[in-house]
Amino acid sequence: MDRKDILGNEIKSECVGCAIVRGEIQLPGGVIYDGKSIILAADPEIPIPGFLIITSKRHIQSFAELSSEERTEIGDIIALAQKAIKDLKIAETVTLVQEERSKHFHIWIFPNQEWMQEKFGYGLQYLRKINAYARENASDEDVIRVIKVAEEIKEYMQKYAKMGL
Ligand SMILES: [Zn+2]
Repeated sequence: MDRKDILGNEIKSECVGCAIVRGEIQLPGGVIYDGKSIILAADPEIPIPGFLIITSKRHIQSFAELSSEERTEIGDIIALAQKAIKDLKIAETVTLVQEERSKHFHIWIFPNQEWMQEKFGYGLQYLRKINAYARENASDEDVIRVIKVAEEIKEYMQKYAKMGL
């Protein structure tokens, strides 16, 4: 399997989700939120600022396997991440994707940015194309921006977490 993260490191693990949980994958900007049952971080493979991924700590596949406590944590973190993306003007809307067929439970929090809509259009059917385009065309500055935005989101979320959200 020839997979590389956006920093150019090869992803060797059988399960990317488990590798993220074990800290074996270098996440751009680091872990944004390290929770009881999930990790929130910038997607390590797609260089789009504000494109976040929630990975469950357990190797499961679907919402149906989550406890109610885990579902609550996921809901809270999605809400907070969405708020961060909007307040930090990264995107006005996000698209959530959870594919039960994936090997390891994860949720994409995808920021719908203006350039994407101009270039590809609006809607789920364009996500793969946008991701492929970002991977092929990201400059070093774009990767730096992904890291910077992840750090900004982390700072934002820590501030709100202290306020008890
Ligand atoms: Zn796994």
